[in-house]
Amino acid sequence: MSAIIFSAKIDDLKVMAENDLKNAKLLPIVWNIVSTLAEKAEPQKSYTVIFDNDESGYLCLRCARKISGNGNGSTFETYQKEWDSSQFCSECMCLLEYELTEEGAKSELDRFLDEGGKIDLNSARQCYKIERVFRAYFPKLISKKKPRFEKPRFKDLTNLYKLCNKINLLRNDIFNL
Ligand SMILES: [Zn+2]
Repeated sequence: MSAIIFSAKIDDLKVMAENDLKNAKLLPIVWNIVSTLAEKAEPQKSYTVIFDNDESGYLCLRCARKISGNGNGSTFETYQKEWDSSQFCSECMCLLEYELTEEGAKSELDRFLDEGGKIDLNSARQCYKIERVFRAYFPKLISKKKPRFEKPRFKDLTNLYKLCNKINLLRNDIFNL
């Protein structure tokens, strides 16, 4: 790492620093966009129905009640909070609340950065997925109005910055809504 820095030209370092600063400034802008647009996604709490010898998949409350009523099962709020992928009700496919693991955040990012991976900011569900990626990187990112981009959980922010740049280019689309 240090060898690379020492062999870099001063101009290269300047460009690197400028890009870092630009990227860092993009974080709150993009966060603001996706977290606002994600509000309409209305994710549901996740439940599991447990029967004598069986267990349901992860469900929204409405589907959990229906299934437990049909088979005398007990409904519990799902214990697991962090996932390797986005979560949907296994019956009605509505969006469920979830947090991402490191692995999950990285694979979601890869999917959004994929050449064919289109980002549709009109989709509240997709904005929620992106918002989850941000939250996985910045656990202290709680307040919507005064987000704190401190102490990222994972060191390498390259792909998150790439996603921010991709979304920033789409900003015009939002204003055309
Ligand atoms: Zn459901």
